[in-house]
Amino acid sequence: MRTIQNVIDLIIAEIPDAPLEDTVDVFKCGDPTQEVTGIVTTFTATMDVLRKTVKLGANLIITHEPTFYEHRERTEWLADDPVFQAKRAFLEEHKLTVWRFHDYWHRHQPDGIITGMLKALAWEKYRLPDTRAMLAIPGMTLANLVAALKEKLALPVVRVVGNPQQSSERIAMLVGSPGGDFQIMAFQQWNADVVICGETSEWQTCEYVRDAIALGHNKALVIIGHAKSEEEGMHYLSSWLQPKVPEVPITYLAIGDPITTL
Ligand SMILES: [Zn+2]
Repeated sequence: MRTIQNVIDLIIAEIPDAPLEDTVDVFKCGDPTQEVTGIVTTFTATMDVLRKTVKLGANLIITHEPTFYEHRERTEWLADDPVFQAKRAFLEEHKLTVWRFHDYWHRHQPDGIITGMLKALAWEKYRLPDTRAMLAIPGMTLANLVAALKEKLALPVVRVVGNPQQSSERIAMLVGSPGGDFQIMAFQQWNADVVICGETSEWQTCEYVRDAIALGHNKALVIIGHAKSEEEGMHYLSSWLQPKVPEVPITYLAIGDPITTL
């Protein structure tokens, strides 16, 4: 019998410097001593993901982001909230176990999320040696870069600060939401032409780039949404994990961007 705990132990054994003392990558609910019946990998364990997991007969969800809307999943402040209560009750009723795979997957060599994104974009060959997230793509313009992102990631709309014709050859792939300071530093320290991000602080990074352009610098910011900037990393996880647990069905569930445009 293979337990849920055994699956997680196999994953952590692949991560340098693991186990970490302080990490958000812990069980959020469920019982790791249960036999694993199937695994779902996803960017976030949304209600839709929970319902599909039950239909698949799986009982382990491996998620990149929190299930209960707070980084460390402190939930006291949500105790009386009906959305929190109903989601928690659904997880308990269907005996689902949720484990977060955030810190460890980013520490994998190379970073599992960025590798999955670069595979989806067919950009692995552009990664600069000895960097985690810097790419060099000769002859790229901002318009071409955005067109490639829209096509490969099925994005209907991409928000941009920049001039479509500007040269966009040095690209920092800053997935997720690492913070405005970090995004701005990538422009100077790595001499990036473009930062591709999930989320940004509009008052901070967007205004820095607007000023940089006004002062004659070749800089641009491309905002593709947090989920779309990272979820291919959880897609890649399903094929990375399958050979380690060949008898267990693994399903990747894409959730896409929660935001639509009207
Ligand atoms: Zn991430």
